Amino acid sequence: MDRKKYCAANWKMNKTPHDSVEYILEFQKKALDNHKVQIVICPPAVSLTAMISEIHRNTIELGGQNMHFENNGAFTGEISADMLVSSGAKWVILGHSERRHVFGESDEMINQKIKQALQSNLKPIFCVGEKIEDRESGNTGQVLAAQLTLGLKDISENDFQNIVIAYEPVWAIGTGLTATTTQVDDAHSVIRELLSKQGYESESTSILYGGSVKSDNAGELNSINGVDGFLIGGAALNVEEYYKIYQSF
Ligand code: PEP
Repeated sequence: MDRKKYCAANWKMNKTPHDSVEYILEFQKKALDNHKVQIVICPPAVSLTAMISEIHRNTIELGGQNMHFENNGAFTGEISADMLVSSGAKWVILGHSERRHVFGESDEMINQKIKQALQSNLKPIFCVGEKIEDRESGNTGQVLAAQLTLGLKDISENDFQNIVIAYEPVWAIGTGLTATTTQVDDAHSVIRELLSKQGYESESTSILYGGSVKSDNAGELNSINGVDGFLIGGAALNVEEYYKIYQSF
């Protein structure tokens, strides 16, 4: 099955609009012509408008890192799906472990956000992944099942086709610890099986891996059959390093 591949970047709370523009101008000097790979850069929301007007490669799209589940109203400090879209985003990361575990987002809240994103024509990169204690107690499968069932509740097959899944074991995010190829392969198979059980066409669903991806492990991780690309945090902040990861596709 020829699934779409993604080289997605989560910049987290890094880079000012000025730094973001410098980055995108530098990055676009590279050969970015692999049309099988969609590049999705998710900068802080305040950088989106400045970046979008500098992007002249159709292999690059932008995304938000979070959004509220309502589209407007008295939600001080929040940003809506429509605001992201009108600032140039085509994607939004939802369910990221930092949103779940630092900001206390529940599966139900993530489900509401996914629905709102889809309604606003914003494609979710839906993150799931277990904590170290879940893995050590043999509960990875149950955790993934709960996150997928609750997060995708009442989402039709038609809408689901606009969702990309990112498997991001919490213990591998920003820690320098990467899951082994066997762990990644197993988790991606489990996710595909769970999605099928939920009635989705999982063979055509792109499932990305995220968790300390770097240029020196990208090639090995990319050779796993069920891996359709990456969601990259720290390593994507550097143009050369991100480009090397892109070249591993
Ligand atoms: C992330 O933030 O989604 C991530 C995978 O971070 P890192 O690559 O730094 O582990």
